[in-house]
Amino acid sequence: MPAPMQPTQRLYYDDPFLLRFEAAVVAHAGNGGRPSIVLDRSAFYPEAGGQMADAGTLAEIGLVDVQVDDDGCVHHVLPDGGGRETSLAIGARVIGAIDRSRRRTNMALHTGQHLLSRALLECAGAETVSSRLGETTCTIDVVRADDAAGRTIDERTIADAETLANQLVDDDVVVRAYFPDPVELAALPLRRAPKVETQVRVVAIGDFDVSPCGGTHCTRSAQIGLVRVSGVERHKGGTRVVFSSGSRARRELWSHDETLRGLARTLTCGPADVGNALDRLRRDLESTRSALGISRIRHGELLAKELIAAASAAGLAHVVASFPEGGLELLRTVGARIVSTDESRVALLAADVDGGMAIAADRGAKSTFDCGAFIKRAAALGGGRGGGRPDHAEGRLPASVEWPSLVARALAPS
Ligand SMILES: [Zn+2]
Repeated sequence: MPAPMQPTQRLYYDDPFLLRFEAAVVAHAGNGGRPSIVLDRSAFYPEAGGQMADAGTLAEIGLVDVQVDDDGCVHHVLPDGGGRETSLAIGARVIGAIDRSRRRTNMALHTGQHLLSRALLECAGAETVSSRLGETTCTIDVVRADDAAGRTIDERTIADAETLANQLVDDDVVVRAYFPDPVELAALPLRRAPKVETQVRVVAIGDFDVSPCGGTHCTRSAQIGLVRVSGVERHKGGTRVVFSSGSRARRELWSHDETLRGLARTLTCGPADVGNALDRLRRDLESTRSALGISRIRHGELLAKELIAAASAAGLAHVVASFPEGGLELLRTVGARIVSTDESRVALLAADVDGGMAIAADRGAKSTFDCGAFIKRAAALGGGRGGGRPDHAEGRLPASVEWPSLVARALAPS
C-alpha cells in the first residue's frame, strides 16, 4: 500500500491575492472519476464550506474543478486527456494561474457573508446555521430563539443589519485570517464553534466579528465594496437571507438601474419619477376602462333596440343575430337588454370568439321558451356543447357554423 500523500500546502491561507504561483507535481491522482494533479503547494481554493472552487490554469491547461480529499490533498481536476504525461509530469515544476475575477468575487462574497451573519446576530439575535455562496445566488440561513411563532425577520430589522454591515465596509477595518495557538483560540469570542478540532483557522474583521473559517477573504473590509440584501424568505422554521456583495452586487444594481432608466425613457420622465408616472398610467387605465364599459352598455342598448325593431318589422317572435366582434360580453349585454325591453321576446344570439362561436339564449319574463333545452339541441346539431337554465343558457360552437340556419333547424319540430 502506498504511503499517504502529504497534505497540500495552502498558499491562499497567507495571501488571498496570490494569483500566480510555482509548485511541483507530486502525484497523478483521480477525483470523482476524473484525472487530477496533486501539487506540493497550491494557491487554488478547493470547493469547501459552502464556497465554490477557484478556476484557472495549471501549466496553461484549464482546470475543470478543484477539490480536496480527506487527507487534505488538493486535487486540480483536468479535462479528460488533459496532458498529464507531458507538461504535468511528476516532479515537473509548473505555474498555476488563478482566475482573478472569480477569486475576487468569492473573496467579497465570503467576507460579506461574515459581516452580514454578525450583523444579523447583533440586530435580530439571529444565529447563522448555514450559508451558501453559489454561482448566481448567495444565502444565509438564520434562526432566532423566537422563530417558533413562524415569522420571518421583519424588513426594518433586515435593513438595519444591512446598514450595519455596510458601516463596517466604509470603516475599512483590517480583516485578519490566522491560526491562533490553542490558548489564544480559547480566549477568542468566536461567533460559532469550529468544525475542526486542530489547526483551527480564524477570520477576524476588526473587533466586529471573529469566526473559524478556511475560505478566501478580503484583507480589508473596504475591499468588499458593498453588502446588499436582495431577498428574505421563510426557510425550515427560520429565515433565509439572500444577499450579494462586491462586484456581483454592483452588477445586480447596475442591471436594475439600466432597467429603471429604460422605463424612465419609455415614460419620458426621470428615474425617480417612474413610480409616480406608473401611478398616473394606472389611474388613466382605470378611467379608460370605466368609460369603455359605459360605451359598451350604450352600444348594447342601441343594438338591442335595432334588433327588436327589425324582428317586429319582419313579424318574427325571436330575435336571431350574430356579431362578428364584441365577444361574450356583448352577447350577454344585448341578450339581457332585448328581453328586459320586451318581456315576451326570446333572444338567440351568437358572437365570434377566438377560434369558435359563443352562443346564448335569453327569454323575457312573459315567455315560456326553454333556453336550456334550445342551447342543448343547437349544440348537438352544430357539433358544440352548452346548456343552462330555462331563462338563460350559453354554449360554444365551431367557428364554421352558420347561426341563423342552425337556429331554424334547432327550432323545427323533431
Ligand atoms: Zn469565511
